[in-house]
Amino acid sequence: MGLKLFNTLSRSVQDFTPLDPAGKKAGMYCCGPTVYDFAHIGNWRTFVFGDLVRRYLEFKDFQVTHVMNITDVEDKIIRRVRETKTSLREFTGKYEAAFFEDLKALNCLSPHQTPRATEHIPDIIALIEKLVARGMAYQNIDAVDCSVYFSIDKYRGCGCKYGQLLKLDLAKLRPNERVLTDEIELDKDYVADFALWKARVPDDGDVFWPSPFGEGRPGWHIECSAMSMKALGETFDLHLGGEDLKFPHHEDEIAQSEGATGQPFVKYWLHGAHLLVEGKKMSKSLGNFFTLRDLLAKGFTGREIRYLLLTAHYRETFNFTIEGLQGARTALARIDECVGKLREFGAPVSDPARSEVSKHAGAETGAPVLQEFSAAMDDDLNISAAWAVVFDWVRDMNRRLAENSLFAADAATALTGWEKIDSVLGIGAKSGTEVPAEILALAEARTAAKQAKDFKRADAIRGELKAKGWVVEDTPKGPKLKKI
Ligand SMILES: [Zn+2]
Repeated sequence: MGLKLFNTLSRSVQDFTPLDPAGKKAGMYCCGPTVYDFAHIGNWRTFVFGDLVRRYLEFKDFQVTHVMNITDVEDKIIRRVRETKTSLREFTGKYEAAFFEDLKALNCLSPHQTPRATEHIPDIIALIEKLVARGMAYQNIDAVDCSVYFSIDKYRGCGCKYGQLLKLDLAKLRPNERVLTDEIELDKDYVADFALWKARVPDDGDVFWPSPFGEGRPGWHIECSAMSMKALGETFDLHLGGEDLKFPHHEDEIAQSEGATGQPFVKYWLHGAHLLVEGKKMSKSLGNFFTLRDLLAKGFTGREIRYLLLTAHYRETFNFTIEGLQGARTALARIDECVGKLREFGAPVSDPARSEVSKHAGAETGAPVLQEFSAAMDDDLNISAAWAVVFDWVRDMNRRLAENSLFAADAATALTGWEKIDSVLGIGAKSGTEVPAEILALAEARTAAKQAKDFKRADAIRGELKAKGWVVEDTPKGPKLKKI
């Protein structure tokens, strides 16, 4: 069965067929972070979604080129640079490094290319010049504002369609209006010419570059058009982002790119839905605004956060809760326990009779779970169905282990299947370094005893843990278990 994905461009679920005539290579561009602060959990939902798409394409044996830009020049960044009196590079470097640390904490694969906007100014200028040459961009030389704008009217005049991702009411089009900012807070029907090159103003400080249009800096939308086409070609397979980027950002990316090349820009547009936190839109005033770092400081792991972010289908609004994170811990412990037991049991067998029998049984343990998992994911990445397959498999494995009806070779086959599944999920159950459930339960009992001021019992459990080969250390972040 082939992979099907919901394409925002066609508003339908379509077979995924890459542009590569051999059907092997797939180019994928994800809008990356604007490095002016730590990324919040809503941003991370989109990045983890991008990672899932890439991992699943690789699972399907596509050769993926994954590109994610770093927006390191933009209105908010310039404001913060001014406020903090730092240099642009110093300021963005700090948040860029934090972004990559967080990406790792969530076990996201590193994109193959992570181009920075400030290192692609010549490419951006060249693209704007192309648009000027084709009559789709104009500069207001008479006015105080000498910025270069994209003309939606001229673009449409060439037979191109503005409003490919969203149904825009073009009757309300006001082509003579211009917006200099990158984000539009107005209603979705509002369409205006947008800035490609923003003329230098005193508030920009040192942040400007020379260009044929005068000193200034690029608009946000043109960065993505220039960098994606440079890395992946004028037409490429997949473009991903959060649904809040559909308009104006992605719509403008299409207009700039197709306006400049006359070619279709992207074959499949994939958009991840919003994230609510504790049932509400995240906001600092409501106290439900979390960066990844806030959640790690609460004692949750990147793995638990990743798991929770991956429990909902990417096109569904997801309610992220602290309770959900606690549930993630329990769910992961179930998987770990099962995988741990299979690892213990799946060691190579020396008894030929056992391995003989298992040749038949083995086919039942590894392959079907993979097929079911793959069938679920092929259906527009139906992750809920995929998790159901995983937990059915855990239940089945546990039952067979308890009944003694599993052979060592079956366990080995099952583990191979699990590892393939985990190459997509990326939750990495490693029984070797992971703490067994029994030990975790003892450690929790000890914490409870300490909280109840029953220190005698707490000490007794510490002794019991030691006898089982584990030492418990109290740290400011809570107790930590270490293997002796
Ligand atoms: Zn973008």
